[in-house]
Amino acid sequence: MRIEKCYFCSAPVYPGHGMMFVRNDCKVFRFCRSKCHKNFKKKRNPRKTRWTKAFRKSAGKELTLDNALEFEKRRNIPVKYNRELWSKTSEFSVFLLILSGKALEKAAAISEVKKNIHLIRAPHAGQAKQLEDKMVQKLAEDVEMDE
Ligand SMILES: [Zn+2]
Repeated sequence: MRIEKCYFCSAPVYPGHGMMFVRNDCKVFRFCRSKCHKNFKKKRNPRKTRWTKAFRKSAGKELTLDNALEFEKRRNIPVKYNRELWSKTSEFSVFLLILSGKALEKAAAISEVKKNIHLIRAPHAGQAKQLEDKMVQKLAEDVEMDE
């Protein structure tokens, strides 16, 4: 079960509620209620309609750096684990398992930081770019070491 977001007002759209519009270029728009759908049909811009979340965000009425961002991160990306590490853990002891667990955790942390670097700093802050380059380099090295 998936709770979608209203395209217009960003309210949650629960299964069996609202309606879905699929444009002829396959973009899917979901609406929580007819009010939002009607406003969409009138070609209104959610950022200029005062009662929408988009308006409140763009007008600085709401907290943008909020813990809610943490929950709204994409989570439907498949988790890939390091196959080599995995085979080692099955061959050797629990100690190695713990070690690889730590390594996996570290790798996960690195990729997490890399993916969400824009949440930490502004994308064009200069230093962020350097940091990202450094991390990409480090990851590349790790991959080389694995092979
Ligand atoms: Zn809505």
